[in-house]
Amino acid sequence: MMEEVRLAPRAPEELQAIIGPERVARLVTQSAEAMRAALRGRSIININSTPAGGGVAEMLQVLLPLARGADIDARWLVIDGDEEFFAITKRLHHRLHGEPGDGGELGGQEAAHYDEVMRRNVDELSAIVVEGDIVILHDPQTAGIAEYLASRGIPVVWRCHVGIDGSNEWTDDAWAFLRRYLEPYVDAYVFTRPSYAPSWVPVDRLHVIRPSIDPLAPKNADMSADKAREILSYVGILDHPSAGPVSFLRSDGTPGRVERFADIVQTGPPPAADVPLVVQVSRWDPLKDMAGTMTGFVEHVLDNTEAHLVLAGPVVTAVADDPEAAVVLNQTWDHWRALRHHQRSRVQLVCLPMSDGEENAVIVNALQRHATVVAQKSLAEGFGLTVTEAMYKGTPVVASAVGGITDQIVDEESGLLVQSPRDLAEFGGALNRVLMDPDLARRLGEGGRRRAIEFFLPDTSLGLWEELLVSVMTGDG
Ligand code: UDP
Repeated sequence: MMEEVRLAPRAPEELQAIIGPERVARLVTQSAEAMRAALRGRSIININSTPAGGGVAEMLQVLLPLARGADIDARWLVIDGDEEFFAITKRLHHRLHGEPGDGGELGGQEAAHYDEVMRRNVDELSAIVVEGDIVILHDPQTAGIAEYLASRGIPVVWRCHVGIDGSNEWTDDAWAFLRRYLEPYVDAYVFTRPSYAPSWVPVDRLHVIRPSIDPLAPKNADMSADKAREILSYVGILDHPSAGPVSFLRSDGTPGRVERFADIVQTGPPPAADVPLVVQVSRWDPLKDMAGTMTGFVEHVLDNTEAHLVLAGPVVTAVADDPEAAVVLNQTWDHWRALRHHQRSRVQLVCLPMSDGEENAVIVNALQRHATVVAQKSLAEGFGLTVTEAMYKGTPVVASAVGGITDQIVDEESGLLVQSPRDLAEFGGALNRVLMDPDLARRLGEGGRRRAIEFFLPDTSLGLWEELLVSVMTGDG
């Protein structure tokens, strides 16, 4: 069964303290008025494959309530699929990232099953979508719906949240599968970077909208330095007096508590609250290069500064839903074990509790705020939300010049870019500069915050969406 996710409207004015009255007014009047006029009472319908978990769901949870708060009927439907369908679409997802995934086929048999699942969803959709609506399909899981919508004259936008710069045999494979579902039917394509689009997407249908973060969500909401220290000492990352679980405000306004500990691998006591911390927060994924971050720190930073390194990621459950994460975490532990004693005592490997998503988010918030420098030494990155999150908090960032990170950081102004992501000396040198020069750290932190507020908050994305949807609906798209 297709499911509708119902979202309460959220007043764009809530963002006023951060983005100012002019940006709120632009959102509520200019863009929204044009959108309402084009829709004439009909709906913008988003369709994706999951109501929670993952970047797409998170983005919809931020943007749709704000659109609804501006009196735009933005709705959200979730398709239904079976195990085989999601194995096929996960394969597509990995291949759009240039990786083989499970190595399976994307041939006639897979297409037949994909078509069958799409057909069942379309049967239900026919009663929901009406003439005058516009539909935004998200990612490969929904691409197969475009044909049906086009046959009814309903405008279709396809938003692809994944991609890499350039192409290889795997991206070619995924696009060869997807092209037939999209090319004849889609009115506009939206990518995070222009280079993520395949060459057959016509330039006049290609649009770029970057992700944004919610400045009021528990992950990013204001937090005092004291509170950050309290949280980090409670979970075990800092050596600092703790008075027990720490309260926080949930997105829905109810009280929450950080009451779980982190799983931490370390030698000796954790660092005191005044020890400078280099922090990288990432999933345990090979492309985040946690081990390289550790080696770069140990070889090029440790002897020059007093800093400690914290590598933090989600707990990896024994029953792994992501078997690769367990492998990467084990490799990172092995790497740590091979360090010398005095090196190990300066590096912590942290697994953050995940059973309460907002509790996890608040700990990440505290880490990103308490850090002296946030590192993101990725080897590849679609966009890199951890970079945006740290920039928004005014924490200086040192990150690899890969993928979407280069759209975010202006080198030397809003962070430091490491041009060769595998060059550990370059990475360590950049960390040293920030750790040893408080003026530079302050300047980069302030520059990062300004840039995050200017470009990566939801009103900017919504404005671009509204412009694009209006142009598609009025035939200028
Ligand atoms: N994240 C988190 N808890 C963790 C590790 C990561 O909440 O233990 C979040 C992080 O704050 C960010 C997201 O997961 O919001 C990762 O997004 P990003 O674009 O950096 O990388 P991806 O994981 O999508 O490749």
